[in-house]
Amino acid sequence: MLGCGSSVGSPVLGKDTVGVEKKDWRTRSSIILLIEEVSILIDTTPDFRQQALLNNVKNIDFVLYTHSHADHTHGIDDLRIFSYIKEDKISCFGNSHTINDIKRNFSYIFNNKNISGRPRLDLKVVNDSFIEQGIEIIPLPIKHKDWDILGYRINNFAYITDCSFISDETFSKIEDLDLLIIDSLRYSKHDAHLSVDEAILIAQKVNPKRTILTHMGSDLKYNELIEYLPKGIEPGYDGLIVNL
Ligand SMILES: [Zn+2]
Ligand SMILES: [Zn+2]
Repeated sequence: MLGCGSSVGSPVLGKDTVGVEKKDWRTRSSIILLIEEVSILIDTTPDFRQQALLNNVKNIDFVLYTHSHADHTHGIDDLRIFSYIKEDKISCFGNSHTINDIKRNFSYIFNNKNISGRPRLDLKVVNDSFIEQGIEIIPLPIKHKDWDILGYRINNFAYITDCSFISDETFSKIEDLDLLIIDSLRYSKHDAHLSVDEAILIAQKVNPKRTILTHMGSDLKYNELIEYLPKGIEPGYDGLIVNL
């Protein structure tokens, strides 16, 4: 887990940082999955460079984008070094809305002018399950307020962030999970995100072996959540490693 913070991170800029517990320092939400030799990144946050350094990330094989909000995309330029390491373009997957936004928001990367010093990326629109480097990726359509975005399932793991609604069709794609990582912004309701209690209800419905909360706002404290959450559900923290 590279980061598990909300869009502004935790602590919030301008707030007193004295006494903030280590596990409540959260960079923006992102994970890296290592399957055999393949390294899969979900989202490129504004904190991506520091996340990659702190977690000793040596290479990125491909990227899955959940959506195009700044907290999930604005580290995209730091894929540059990883595309040099790969000596090839890095494939970046997302739904059509996300891919179009990325093309527009970072047009310098994708226009045809011969500018050096930009990441070499290959944007690809996905709707249905696909195989990349021998790994089956199942996109999970979810709602982020009125916006259609994607979570992803890979083997018995699913990652769902920035979620306000999950359809029955998507629920049917997340059965028999060993691990669910799910959005949980704050205790009170929010129209674009799951609250803690809504995340608990979804976890209980999906019934994975283990659930980890992500995209947590600064009001959520690790030590309080550990006491509050039912068995099998836990708050994430930056640097958390799970072996599946
Ligand atoms: Zn977000
Ligand atoms: Zn978002």
